[in-house]
Amino acid sequence: MDLKLFNTLTKTEEVFRPLEGNAVRMYTCGPTVYSYAHIGNFRAYVFMDNLRRVLKYNGYELKHVMNITDVGHLESDADEGEDKMEKAARKENKDPYEIAAHYTQAFFKDMEELNIGKPEVVAKATDHIKEMLEFVKILVQKGYAYETSKGIYFDISKLDKYPVLSNRNIDEQIAGARVDVDEEKKNPYDFAVWIKAPKNHIMKWDSPWGLSYPGWHLECSAMGRKYLGDTFDIHTGGIDHIPTHHENEIAQSKGCTGNIPAKTWMHVEFLQVDGGKMSKSLGNVYTINELKEKGIEPLAFKLFCYTAHYRTKLNFTFDGVTSAQKALNRLRQGYVKHLEGTEIVEEDKLQEYEKRFNEAINSDLNMPLAMSIIWEIVRNEVKSPDFAKLLLKMDSVIGLDLENAKKYLES
Ligand code: AMP
Ligand code: ZN
Repeated sequence: MDLKLFNTLTKTEEVFRPLEGNAVRMYTCGPTVYSYAHIGNFRAYVFMDNLRRVLKYNGYELKHVMNITDVGHLESDADEGEDKMEKAARKENKDPYEIAAHYTQAFFKDMEELNIGKPEVVAKATDHIKEMLEFVKILVQKGYAYETSKGIYFDISKLDKYPVLSNRNIDEQIAGARVDVDEEKKNPYDFAVWIKAPKNHIMKWDSPWGLSYPGWHLECSAMGRKYLGDTFDIHTGGIDHIPTHHENEIAQSKGCTGNIPAKTWMHVEFLQVDGGKMSKSLGNVYTINELKEKGIEPLAFKLFCYTAHYRTKLNFTFDGVTSAQKALNRLRQGYVKHLEGTEIVEEDKLQEYEKRFNEAINSDLNMPLAMSIIWEIVRNEVKSPDFAKLLLKMDSVIGLDLENAKKYLES
């Protein structure tokens, strides 16, 4: 059965075929480790996990890279504001590396509790300064980047087309004056690939342009290239990455290698709170730990994510996750009842369920539909270990640790 995935680049659902053999080379933009990741961030990683699992279910091998951003992500996604790591370091009166280590560890603890598969390669930006510097040098040599008093900027007018991913109309945006005016830039949408460090900046490295540090977008271009090659299969991230981060990553990679790095670009929609933005200033940002304190298991949050397709907005409410917690317990009970059942189910019936489930997940990861099929099996009057076995197979995609259902119910 064909696997269909929606590609932001072509704005269509396409039949997925790996570029080479049976292995899927994939890159995911990972967390910026300056504070605890919130449940909105984790919606993005639940999506990543679904994609990993669906690819594996379809028999593909994975070479999946995720970066850890520990330098260069400024307060805005573009070139404005302070480096988020430096700001956190000053606020907490700690070394930025200490900050990064602490929040990276917390991130992976939450990932584990959400039963999210770890990418085969986890790459820290600060471990790849050499590769990034090489990348900048190539851009400068090829005439795609130039020096200003602030750093090295990418010249978007050198490309045949910019932007390619978003629909944004650059002229309109310029007319709306949404970009900062920097007299030294050749085009308003030129962006920093390498930034000269102000005196009090802690994270900085030697370079032909003095002590400096990488721009955020650069790490993904350089690390994607290092581990996956000039072109690979899939690149994922949140929708907020489309207009700036991914657009600029594509620009840099086209400048360096001549290619758009990934064939398929996939983006997950936002988790909202009360129909609006989740933001620290509004006090409506929750962490996995905060949900746990309120009696909501991380896996219940994962199940809650399946109530909407990844390309639609999902509204977070405590009523919603409380229902998901109850549903998770019912799912576990239903699985155990089948496991302890004595009846036999005909092969045709099992195959029919399986076919419908496969169609759902292969239709651009339609998890709400896949879950509705799982519930049909759970509620089936016939109680049979054959159904339990099928549910366990399906759990390899939904990742709710059904294998340990009894333990959860007893604890
Ligand atoms: P960051 O740590 O800020 O670089 O973000 C990590 C990931 O979370 C990125 O893929 C973002 O696009 C994604 N993200 C941030 N906020 C949300 C949200 N409210 N809902 C879904 N994904 C989000
Ligand atoms: Zn990235």
